[in-house]
Amino acid sequence: MTKPVASNKPPLLLTPGPLTTADATREAMLRDWGSRDTDFIALNARVRAGLLDIANGAPTHTTVPLQGSGTFIVEAALCTLVPHRDVSDRKLLICANGAYGHRMARICEIAGRSHAIIEAPEDTPIDPAAVRAALEAEPALTHVALVHCETTTGLLNPVAEIAAVVAGAGRELILDSMSAFGALPVDVQADGIGCVVASSNKCLEGPPGFGYAVVREDLLAAAKGNAHSLSLDLEHQWRAMEGNGQWRFTPPTHVIAAFDAALAAFQHEGGQPARLARYADNAETLIGAMRGAGFETYLPDDLQAPIIVTFHAPADPAWDFAALYDRLVARGFAIYPGKLTQAETFRIGVIGQVTAADMTTVAATISEELAAMGIKRFGWD
Ligand SMILES: *Cc1c(COP(=O)(O)O)cnc(C)c1O
Repeated sequence: MTKPVASNKPPLLLTPGPLTTADATREAMLRDWGSRDTDFIALNARVRAGLLDIANGAPTHTTVPLQGSGTFIVEAALCTLVPHRDVSDRKLLICANGAYGHRMARICEIAGRSHAIIEAPEDTPIDPAAVRAALEAEPALTHVALVHCETTTGLLNPVAEIAAVVAGAGRELILDSMSAFGALPVDVQADGIGCVVASSNKCLEGPPGFGYAVVREDLLAAAKGNAHSLSLDLEHQWRAMEGNGQWRFTPPTHVIAAFDAALAAFQHEGGQPARLARYADNAETLIGAMRGAGFETYLPDDLQAPIIVTFHAPADPAWDFAALYDRLVARGFAIYPGKLTQAETFRIGVIGQVTAADMTTVAATISEELAAMGIKRFGWD
C-alpha cells in the first residue's frame, strides 16, 4: 500500500495552545508595524479595550499586556502584586491541583515570595471551604492564586465560589484563566476578582507571543515598586502604556495585529457565549465518539471543562504515545501527551479553529491507527 502524499496543510492543533488559527488571523501578520505608529497605538488600545470588555472590567480594571508566553504574565502578576518576603509579611495562598498551580509555587520559590499551598489531587477541584479555613487561620495571606481550568487534566475549578470566599475575607484573587478566558465566563466585577491573567494563543485564538492581565487599577497602583524584575513589572508596564500608548520594550507587533483580527472574529462569532457553545459542542462530540470506541475519560463529566480532554491510554503493552502521535500527524492531527503523575493518559484539545466534525474524524482516526498498531482494546484497566 502506498502512503498518501503528504499535503502542505499543517495538522490541526488539538492541544492547549498554540492552536489552529483562522486564515484572517494569520493574514493579519503579513505587514510590518512601527511600534510608535499612530495606527499601531490605536490597534493596541483597541485590543486592551476588547479584553477589558470580555472580563467586564470597566471602570475599575485595566488591561496590561506583556511580551512572552503565558508563564511570563503569571510570573509578572504574582511578583508585581505580592511583595518580596524581605520587605513584607504578605503571603500568597496558592491553590494547586495540577501542574499550573505547582508552577506558581515554583515562581514564588525562585522570586522569594512567601506562599502557602492548598493541594488537591489532580482529579479533585479545590474546595472553597479549605480556602476559607486557610484565610481565617493566617491573616498574612493577603492574596490567593487559583487556576481556572487546570490544563493538566482539563478540570474546572469552582471560580465563583472561591472568588466569593476570597472577597468575603477581604483578600485579593489572582486568577490564572489562561486556558479558559474568552470561552468560560469571567466577570471581575460580579465575582470581585482583583486580577485575571491569560495569553494570546488560547481560547481567543491568536498566535503565541504575549499575555495580559485584567487587573484592578488601585491594586496595581499600590503595587508600585514591588517587582524585583524590570521586564516583568506590570505596574511599570501599565504606567508607561497609559502615558504614551506604547509598550515599554519591543512589542510583538505582528502578533498583536493578528490578535486584533482574532478578537474581531470572536466578536463576530457572538463573543464568549458563542465560543463556549462551539467548544462545548466539540467536547461533547469528541467524548461521545471516543467513548463509543471504548475509551474512558480521566475526569467525570461534571468536572470536565470544554477545553482539553484527558483520556486513559489503552492498557496494552503495544501502547506507544510517540508512535500514535506520528501516525496522527501524518493524517492531519496533532494531539497532546498526558501530564499526570499517577496515570498513563493522553489529551485532546477542543479549542481553536476546529469543529465538531473534526472531533468525529480525529476519534475515528485514532481508532484506525491504534488498530493498525495492534491495539484492539482501548479501555483502561
Ligand atoms: C498554557 C497555560 C499557562 C502558560 O503556559 P505557557 O506555556 O507559558 O504559555 C499557564 N497556566 C495555564 C492554566 C495554562 O493552560
